[in-house]
Amino acid sequence: MAKQDFYELLGVERGASQDELKKAYRKLAMKYHPDRNPGDKEAEQKFKDINQAYDVLKDDQKRAAYDRFGHAAFEAGGPGGFGGGPGAGAGDFDFTSGFADIFEEMFGDFMGGGARRGASQTSARGNDLRYNLEISLEDAFGGKQTQIKVPTFVGCEGCSGSGAESGARPASCPTCQGRGRVRAQQGFFTIERTCPNCHGAGQIISNPCKSCSGQGRVRKEKVLSVAIPAGVDDGTRIRLAGEGEAGLRGAPAGDLYLFVSIRPHRFFHRDGANIHCRVPIPMTTAALGGNIEVPTVEGNRARMSVPAGAQTGDQFRLRGKGMSVLRAKSRGDMYVEIAVETPVNLSKQQKELLREFDKSGGKNTSPESEGFFSKVKELWDDLKE
Ligand SMILES: [Zn+2]
Ligand SMILES: [Zn+2]
Repeated sequence: MAKQDFYELLGVERGASQDELKKAYRKLAMKYHPDRNPGDKEAEQKFKDINQAYDVLKDDQKRAAYDRFGHAAFEAGGPGGFGGGPGAGAGDFDFTSGFADIFEEMFGDFMGGGARRGASQTSARGNDLRYNLEISLEDAFGGKQTQIKVPTFVGCEGCSGSGAESGARPASCPTCQGRGRVRAQQGFFTIERTCPNCHGAGQIISNPCKSCSGQGRVRKEKVLSVAIPAGVDDGTRIRLAGEGEAGLRGAPAGDLYLFVSIRPHRFFHRDGANIHCRVPIPMTTAALGGNIEVPTVEGNRARMSVPAGAQTGDQFRLRGKGMSVLRAKSRGDMYVEIAVETPVNLSKQQKELLREFDKSGGKNTSPESEGFFSKVKELWDDLKE
């Protein structure tokens, strides 16, 4: 059944004043009141209907919404959507999600719910702060307790954050009735904005504290001790709840976010829990095999043996020598990549020895290059034909 127009229900013009609405509503409410019409289902329904109509039209916000969208503004997608059963008062609206979004944006706390009720608190709440902290890979490995200096607002000691000179009490702001936000009509729409009188605090102070000019907070460089956990990753964000800017006049403080970045390391490259390290070794070690020492992230050295015939790019795993893992006792692995160094700055004698080595021949001492050049030769021969 289509709903009757609210204005028609109350028997008033669309432009009716609040007084006219009230009069019309009272008259009809008396007429259809269930007490006067016992057992009359039709009267009971009519009584409900006019109550709904008046509930909407007596409220400027809801009336505006109704004027624009009609009943759709208050429907929850099904029959009886308008607040459900009998006794559902204003504020019980069960908006479908789509409408709820639109209306919340348009009318702020129109829904009588908490969505925007926190608006005054939100604007008085201290700002969140960001602090960029660069640490070394070693610190990321071992964790670090460090001190940071953050320019911020802290609660005023003179007034304990109230903003009022001792004894005086802040009063509710008359401009916004303590809401911190004011509504302004712009054509059809009602716009909410921060109250210009109290700047969102919802309170004004007749004799403000001299130390903070009534703000309840003062500028200060705060020194904070922060613990960076072992195994922290590059780009990790650490939230320090309540360590942001102090709020206005005792409002909640914001949070401080530490953005951790890790400086590139000279030797080590981190890959999650593992560490990669490129280690140059002399040609002779690579050819003959031998032991080498490699640096580890905790500042020690680890011995590892290089097998004879090691090549550039060969990787060796040192188990458990990688990064620490966040909130775990385990460690990743370290991967050592070999880079064979061609000898330079040779003495006469050394050159002689190498020529000697070269002449000595031997089969398959350089299998890869021999294989490669024989294949290239085939390619050239093919091209000649
Ligand atoms: Zn103060
Ligand atoms: Zn205000």
